[in-house]
Amino acid sequence: MNFNNPTKTILVTGGAGFIGSHLCAALLERGSKVVCLDNLYTGKKSNIERFLKSPLFTFLEADITDSVNIEGDVDSIYNLACSASPKAYQRNPVKTVVTNVEGMINILNLAKEKNARVLQASTSEVYGDPLEHPQKENYWGNVNPLSPRACYDEGKRCAETICMDYNREYSTDVKIVRIFNTYGPNMSLDDGRVVSNFIIQALAGENITMYGDGSQTRSFQYIDDLIKGLIAMMDAESFIGPVNIGNPNEFTIKKLAEKVKKLTKSKSNIVYKALPIDDPKQRQPDITLAKRELKWSPQINLDAGLKKTIAYFASVI
Ligand code: UDP
Repeated sequence: MNFNNPTKTILVTGGAGFIGSHLCAALLERGSKVVCLDNLYTGKKSNIERFLKSPLFTFLEADITDSVNIEGDVDSIYNLACSASPKAYQRNPVKTVVTNVEGMINILNLAKEKNARVLQASTSEVYGDPLEHPQKENYWGNVNPLSPRACYDEGKRCAETICMDYNREYSTDVKIVRIFNTYGPNMSLDDGRVVSNFIIQALAGENITMYGDGSQTRSFQYIDDLIKGLIAMMDAESFIGPVNIGNPNEFTIKKLAEKVKKLTKSKSNIVYKALPIDDPKQRQPDITLAKRELKWSPQINLDAGLKKTIAYFASVI
């Protein structure tokens, strides 16, 4: 089967979310038929409103933890369905585990039935609070299974395991992408992650909430770079991954706050709050594999991406 043919039917679970809605837009632009499935737990109808009139687009309000039935052909599936911000996934941790484990099994059973390819949206969280730096795909990680973050981290690790088991046991065509911190338009106002929090606070002239002393680091990629990476991975033949997709440009959270303040010309004060439990101290992807296998590397630098994201939040708050 030619998976590169864009005129295929593609299921995007979590399609009304931040990443999912950008992916649906890119796939529709390529001429694919898109079935967007979302339980609207953190996804928003407003993110996909503009696609609803397209004859290529179908929206299904459903949950992957229920058995998923799709009429007709499905050629490939992007499984993005899971709350991804610590604030959202810790609100209902058992649901987070079930979505990652039972939901993954339901999606893989659907893939088996339809003979479809599945791309699992995994995460840099599988590396936990990493003891190796930067993180290569062959690093097994440092995750505390008892932590409030574990419902997501261990859930995503188990989802990777299930993908590999379906591949070995049933030859299911699977692909695993480990997504590093990503930001951009369509993030929820109440998402709780650092880029959206800082921008919203800076624009409103409110205190900027720094957790810990701000010396922890992250590496942020702009959403458009991630979408290109996801599509390149889905189109790649004979490459299961896992592959890191992220921007290796690493900086402290304190630096991010200063940059956001400068770009928004904000007079907000920075206030220091307790660091969340098991908050990783550093994170940076090694993207050698993505460069080699997918000919992919991020193109949008932090200033350019922040400017677009600031313009988005300024238009919605
Ligand atoms: N963070 C912060 N202030 C906020 C939100 C987050 O200082 O208002 C910190 C958080 O403790 C972490 C980093 O920013 O060290 C990135 O947090 P985020 O929730 O965006 O993503 P993750 O921890 O999953 O990488």
